[in-house]
Order: sequence, then structure tokens, then C-alpha cells
Amino acid sequence: MTTPVPITVARGDGIGPEIMDATLRILDAAGAALDIDEIAIGEAVYASGNPAGISNESLESLRRTKVFLKAPITTPQGGGFKSLNVTVRKTFGLFANIRPCVAYAPFVSTKHPVMDVVIVRENEEDLYAGIEHQQTDEVVQCLKLISRPGCERIARYGFEYARVHGRKKVTAFTKDNIMKMTDGLFHKVFDEVAAEYPEIESEHWIVDIGAAKLADTPEMFDVIVLPNLYGDILSDVAAQIAGSVGLAGSANIGAEVSMFEAIHGSAPRRAGQNLANPSGLLLGAVQMLVHIGQSDVATKVHNAWLRTIEDGVHTYDIFDEGVSTEKVGTKEFADAVIARIGQTPQTLKAVAYVATEPISVKVTERAPAAKTQLGIDVFLHWKDGAPDDLAQRILPTVGDELELVMLSNRGQKVWPGGAPETLTTDHWRCRFLAPNGGTTTTMATLELQQRMTEAGLEPIKTEGLFALDGEPAFTRGQGQ
Ligand code: NAD
Repeated sequence: MTTPVPITVARGDGIGPEIMDATLRILDAAGAALDIDEIAIGEAVYASGNPAGISNESLESLRRTKVFLKAPITTPQGGGFKSLNVTVRKTFGLFANIRPCVAYAPFVSTKHPVMDVVIVRENEEDLYAGIEHQQTDEVVQCLKLISRPGCERIARYGFEYARVHGRKKVTAFTKDNIMKMTDGLFHKVFDEVAAEYPEIESEHWIVDIGAAKLADTPEMFDVIVLPNLYGDILSDVAAQIAGSVGLAGSANIGAEVSMFEAIHGSAPRRAGQNLANPSGLLLGAVQMLVHIGQSDVATKVHNAWLRTIEDGVHTYDIFDEGVSTEKVGTKEFADAVIARIGQTPQTLKAVAYVATEPISVKVTERAPAAKTQLGIDVFLHWKDGAPDDLAQRILPTVGDELELVMLSNRGQKVWPGGAPETLTTDHWRCRFLAPNGGTTTTMATLELQQRMTEAGLEPIKTEGLFALDGEPAFTRGQGQ
């Protein structure tokens, strides 16, 4: 008899309680050994005045069990509320979001009958750090942060996932032809990690054409590793084109805590009517069973579910007169899955999860690079004329230790030698470099800013221009 594994369960809002009930009944019938700690999340908790929708005691439960099976919640309208998913993801560092997107043709209608793609999305970094500023009347900015450890963890997770699940190929999508440093780092680290898995094929696509291929020919792909924003968008696209967002489960994996859920929301209009399809949450729970070492139960549940789908026992959302044999409610669907425990599908491919340790990913320690400062980008809020006028205002403040080498506006070089057609806003970047490719000091850049301020040109922000191990560590394209 397996010792019950402690897990935390939340029934959520809307259709959440019904689909969680169905899921837990199926897991129980299949022999899952679970020691459940139930917590309240969502609407009621938000309404009690907690802006995160989850109490500290509930977070303690997650800290203790390290495994969270979560039904969807209804996010309150209006300001002042924090996303519960973001809170849990950030609190516990759930860095990897795993979404298998599988077609179940001919039983669930899809244009891509042999699709079987797993999306591995980086879950913490990128534009989602939420660091945004409005610095001028006309311009707002959002900081895109990509870290080497963050890239290494997600790339390694992608390859480890492929190894454990017998998948043949891992693909990365980035836009490194444009974002050479941020997406460039993601691509570079992906290639470094790929080299450690010679038995698994690896490839890289620019995200725009990669996304088009995914939508058109998803059978080309196996595991796809993506930075946060592209992963957010394309994981929904992938789930939808596989057949239905209602069928996809998702795992959010951290070094300690992991969370398992359906990808859909709480569908409030369907709540309380015994209509909702519990499949997304059930398949999330299957990922959980594999994660906690109950692969045999995961296999039993997944195969019984496949058999149910194949037998045409369908909830309203996937019901199709020509294919389905029986339209059932949430409870009856769960009963049908339970009745098929021990059976395997006959047309669809049966699953066979192998018992493994949870995937753990190490990050390589690296010695810090030697860092020298080559100059500084000073950003100004200025609206009093043309680029030449601004240059004439700045030049008398520059001094001997630095040179003004460029003005740019929205990343487009406008001085020296800009094009008269370029639209300029009130947000200017002024690039200063030490003469003759030399180095400068923080103090020299501060003194420059002091002279600029005294001349009425107040910096709104600066970016240091550094060399790391002798290599300039900033973009210099386009005449910069
Ligand atoms: P939704 O996914 O809840 O529902 C959209 C539509 O999809 C529903 O009207 C329904 O027709 C269908 N649907 C979704 N799940 C289904 C299921 N299991 N069975 C049958 N049909 C299903 O998206 P929404 O209406 O945009 O969002 C509703 C609420 O859910 C919002 O408050 C949103 O913020 C929240 N939400 C929560 C999560 C989460 O907790 N992880 C995720 C997404 C949305």
C-alpha cells in the first residue's frame, strides 16, 4: 500500500467545485494515494478583503505539501486585486509551465488530427516582471528581463522532460534577430543545453514563422521551449488548435512547490448546472500523479479517460452529433471514466508513464566576468526642437572624459546624420562613450549628469554601457 502523499486542493469558483469533485472521485477510484489538505481560494477570499485571493495559512499549506491541485477561480473585476496565479507563481518560483496539447481525432474535431505538442513556457521572467514606467508625456516603457539562470533552467527542463517522456525533439522559439541580447541569450543558452542531450534533436525557429508553422503544421513539433510572452500566447493557440482549450491541463513547476490545473477559467455561466467538462483539470491531475511518483495511477486514469473520449461519451462542449454517442454532464462523465478504469483506448494511443524521480534542474555556477565601463546612455524628456538643437544644448556640457556619439529617439538614430522623416517623441537617448574606445568611471558619468542638469537637461534615467570580459555588452547596431 502506497503511503498517501500530502497535497493541497482548492475547489475554486464557478465550475471549479464540480470539476474538482469529478476529478477527485476519479483519482480515488483509480487508487491514488493522496492525503488532501483543502484550502479556500478565489472570490470568497478576495471578498473578505484579501487582495491576493489566498490567505497566508493557505500559502503555508502549499509550503508544507509542495503540491497544489487547483480548480479555476473567478478573478474579481476592478483594480486593487492581484492575480492569484501570479502570486502563487512568484511566491514559490514556479518557473516552468508545461502544457501538453494533444489532438483526439476523430473523436474530438480538429484540423490537426496527429498533433501532439508539449509547450514548455518560461513562467517568471521576460516582460512579466511588471516593471513599467511612464517617464515623459508621450512614452511608456516595460522592462524585458531575461536571466542566464532563468534560460538555463527552462531549457534544461525542456530537455529533461523530453528525455523522461521519450520525446524526440526540442524546439526553441525566439525573436533573436531583433532582440539580440535578451532573446539572443535565451537562444544561446538553449543551444548550450541542447549540446548536453545529443540523443535529442534540437532546433530553433524565429517566433513569427515558428508560430505560423505551429498553427499550420503542428505535427512538425514535439516539445517547444519558449520565453514567457511567446509561451503565454502560443500555449493557448496550441491548446485550441488541438481541439479545445477545455481539454488541456497544465503544470506549473518550481524547485520546491508545483501547481497543477486546467488551462481554462471558471466559466461562471456554466456553474452549478452539471455541464462542465472536467477533462482539463483531470489531465492536470494526471501530470500531478506523475510528479508525485504515482505513474501507474496516472497511466490508469489517463487511459480510462482516453477510452471514455473514444467511446463517444462527451460533455456538451465537445459533443458532436456525428461522432459522440452520449451527451453527459460532469458527474456522469466522471462515472463513465471510473467505469473504464483498467481499460485502454483502442484507436487513440494509450499512455504508459514510467516511474521517475521528479525532474530537477541544476543551474551552472559561473565566475563573474571582468566588468569595465565604456560610457553611459542618458535619457532625457525634451520637446523643444530638432535633434540638432538638442545636440547643441548637450555638447557644451560634455567635458573631456566622454564624447557625445549619438542621439536616438525610440531606438532610431537621429543625430548625427538622422533622416528628416523620422518621427521624434519627447523621449531621447543620448549616448556618451569614453574617447578612443577607452574606459570611464561612474564618477565621470555622474559629473556629466550634474553638468547636464545645471544646463536644464535633467536625466530621466540612465543605462551604464559596460564591457564584460572585454566584450561590449550593449546593442550597437544601426549606427549606434
Ligand atoms: P473561461 O475559460 O472560464 O470560459 C470561457 C468559455 O469556455 C465558457 O463560457 C465555456 O463556454 C467554455 N468552457 C471553459 N471551460 C469549460 C469546461 N471545463 N467545460 C465546458 N466549457 C468550458 O474564460 P472566461 O469566461 O474568460 O473567464 C471566466 C473567469 O475565469 C474569469 O474571472 C477569469 O479571470 C477566470 N480565469 C481563471 C483562470 C484560472 O484560475 N487559472 C484561468 C483563466 C480565466
